[in-house]
Amino acid sequence: MNTYDALSLFSGGLDSILATKLMIAHGHKVLGLHFVSPFFGKPEKVAFWQREYGIPVEVIDVGQEFVDLMAAFPPHGFGKVLNPCVDCKILMLRRAKELLAAHGASFIISGEVLGQRPMSQRADTLNIIRNDADVRDVLLRPLSAGLLPPTPMEESGLVDRSRLSSLCGRGRKGQYALAKALGVTTIPTQAGGCRLGERESARRYWPILRHFPRPLAHYFDLANVGRQLWRREGGQWLSMGREHKDNEKLLKLARPEHYVFVLKSFPGPHAVGCPEPGKDWTEGELAEAAACLASYSPKARKSAEAVEVIVTRNGMDRVIAVHADDPHGFVDNLTWPETRAAQKEWEKSLAG
Ligand code: SF4
Repeated sequence: MNTYDALSLFSGGLDSILATKLMIAHGHKVLGLHFVSPFFGKPEKVAFWQREYGIPVEVIDVGQEFVDLMAAFPPHGFGKVLNPCVDCKILMLRRAKELLAAHGASFIISGEVLGQRPMSQRADTLNIIRNDADVRDVLLRPLSAGLLPPTPMEESGLVDRSRLSSLCGRGRKGQYALAKALGVTTIPTQAGGCRLGERESARRYWPILRHFPRPLAHYFDLANVGRQLWRREGGQWLSMGREHKDNEKLLKLARPEHYVFVLKSFPGPHAVGCPEPGKDWTEGELAEAAACLASYSPKARKSAEAVEVIVTRNGMDRVIAVHADDPHGFVDNLTWPETRAAQKEWEKSLAG
C-alpha cells in the first residue's frame, strides 16, 4: 500500500486543488480524500483529477454518517438552506484523522480560505472546526496559513511556513494567481458542489428527515430523482420519474423492500414507494399510489377502461386496477418557504 505525508480534504473545487498542489509542489506526498454522500461528491472524476492535476484521490463514503448528523439536527445548525457546513467540515476532518495512520500520513490539509464563506470560514468558525474535530495538532490550511497561527507542522519545520499562502476573503484573484504559479490551467466551475445548498433539493430532503425515525442514506438518492409526492394522511412517500431517464434511475435504485409501480399497458412514469421499516402499506394506500401514478400518464387519463398498475416488491409482482381519476392523497412536497419555516420550528423546539 502507498504511504503519504499528508491527507487532503479534496472536494475537487479550486481551493482543494490549490491546497493539495501547493503541498505537492513543496515536495510532500499527498493523497486527496474525496468524501461522497447523496448530497455531494463526484467519484466519477477520480481518474480525471489524477490525470489533469497529478493528484491521487481516494473516495470515502460518509453518506449514512452524514444523514445521521442531519437527522439529529447538526449541533452547529444549518446555513442558508439545509447545509450543515460547520458540522460537515468537522465530520470530514474527524474521518481524515482516523485515516492518517493507515496511510502513514502525519497531517491533514484543508483548502479553507479565511473569510471566504460566511458560515464556515470565519476566523472563529475555523477555530471551532479545528477544535471540535480534534485536529488542532495535525491540521494545516495552506491557502491562509500566513494569516493563521503557526501549526506544529510549521513550527517543527516539517512544512515551510514562508512558502505558504495568505489568501483571504471572497475574491478569487489570489487563487487565480496561485493557480498560474502552480501550472493549474483547468479551473473547475465554482457552482454546483453540494445539493444541500439548493432550495429545490432541500424541499426534497426535508420530509424524509422529519418523517422517518432513522432515515437511511439511500432514501436521499431516491429523493434526488424525479418528483417527490407524499400522502397527506399517513405520510407514505412516492418518488416518481418525470422522464425516461428518471424511470431508469429509479429502477436501479429500488431495493427489494420498496414498492415499484409501473403502468402495465400505457406509457408513463415509474414510481418507487419507500415504506417506513416494519410498516407495510395497506391495500388502500397501494391503490392510492397506483391511482396517483396513473394520473400522471396522459394516455391512461384518456382511457375509459381500468388502468392496470404492476406493483413489485420482494421479487413478487401483482396487478392493481385503478382509474386515473380515482382520488388519492399524494401531493407535492412543501414549498421552499414552508420548508424553511418548518426547519426553524424544529430548531426552536430543540432549543426550548
Ligand atoms: S456546502 Fe455541503 S459539502 Fe460543503 S461544507 Fe457545506 S454541507 Fe459540506
